[in-house]
Amino acid sequence: MISQEEIAELLTEYDVKKLYIGTIGSHSALNIFKGAKEEGFKTLCICKERDLIVYKKFPLADEIIMVEDFTELLDDHVQEKLRSLNTIIVPHGSFTAYLSTEQLMNDFYVPIFGNRRLLHWETNRELQAEWLKRAGLKLPRTFNKPEEIDRLVIAKLPGARGGRGYILAKSPDSFKRRVEEMINRGLLSRGDLEKIHLQEYIIGVNVYPHYFSSIMREDVELLSVDKRYESTVDAIGRIPAEEQIEVGISPTYTIVGNIPITLRESLLPEFLRMGDNVQKVATEIAPPGIIGPFCLETVVTDNLEIYTFEISARIVAGTNVGIGTSPYAYLKFGEKMYIGRRIALELKEAIEFKRLHNVVT
Ligand code: AMP
Ligand code: AMP
Repeated sequence: MISQEEIAELLTEYDVKKLYIGTIGSHSALNIFKGAKEEGFKTLCICKERDLIVYKKFPLADEIIMVEDFTELLDDHVQEKLRSLNTIIVPHGSFTAYLSTEQLMNDFYVPIFGNRRLLHWETNRELQAEWLKRAGLKLPRTFNKPEEIDRLVIAKLPGARGGRGYILAKSPDSFKRRVEEMINRGLLSRGDLEKIHLQEYIIGVNVYPHYFSSIMREDVELLSVDKRYESTVDAIGRIPAEEQIEVGISPTYTIVGNIPITLRESLLPEFLRMGDNVQKVATEIAPPGIIGPFCLETVVTDNLEIYTFEISARIVAGTNVGIGTSPYAYLKFGEKMYIGRRIALELKEAIEFKRLHNVVT
């Protein structure tokens, strides 16, 4: 893995008065660019032809690098260009979706805002579960093999995009039936079966709190909360049960958008403690822990129990609901604070106190 020293070395070549904040043109790029500009930085977008219209209609990128494929980000000449423009890269969901964690950790010689070493923990299901459990979070139960299924489970495939190929089943028998159906529909292959992860399905509502771990201020802030709008799962309730059975509908989870949430205030203490504890454990497993944004994916039951099924140790696209402001950002900062801008503010403070090397890896 690229060491902290190697990145610090790269930074010595940087003109910190002329930094660019750069990212891949997708996911939460507009959020990141707007925030960077509001804090006085220049912005850089790594963009595909078909997406260029976004950054023309919303002209927030000062510099655009056109690529045919996002893996070109790893090409020497692209990395060189990024460094020559004093670019700090803000990684988001498209980085791990289109590049491998190994590539990002080992072959990308450009300073990243965030902790590279946590990428590894985040993308490995077992490590992730260990981290969250150590933080005292409640996790859905996992099952080692289909024969153990004794309640409703969600079967997940690694790297499944948008939950395609996910299966819900409530017994070993129904699991087998659903698998055959999915294979016949071409949504699953037999080879996938070994990699399947069986997780207790928690009946409740989705809540995705967005935190910001500030190294400069030594605090974990809660800035906004969203829930997802997913096709087809959010459409199924509109179809009567009889027709659902007749048509044989199975839910998929393709993300279409996000909806902001304001939480019941009595849930805040627990969500705030969860954020603090996740960061506390992160400082133990990979100092200095999470740098910047992170998000927990949770389900809240009717007993108000909070189950966490995933963590993203980076900006999530759900934070786009907070562009401009959100209730929690407003309570803490007043208007015009949101994750994209919070990132830029952290970078600004790091530069001011000559601690840029503490927030990039
Ligand atoms: P994209 O660049 O849009 O293909 O997204 C990259 C990754 O981020 C994919 O795994 C998406 O599922 C996820 N993603 C994109 N947009 C959102 C969103 N608005 N909310 C949650 N996840 C998203
Ligand atoms: P994921 O690919 O892990 O983000 O999961 C896709 C969707 O499945 C989530 O947005 C949730 O709506 C749902 N989901 C995932 N895991 C669980 C679970 N253990 N219990 C209930 N719903 C879940």
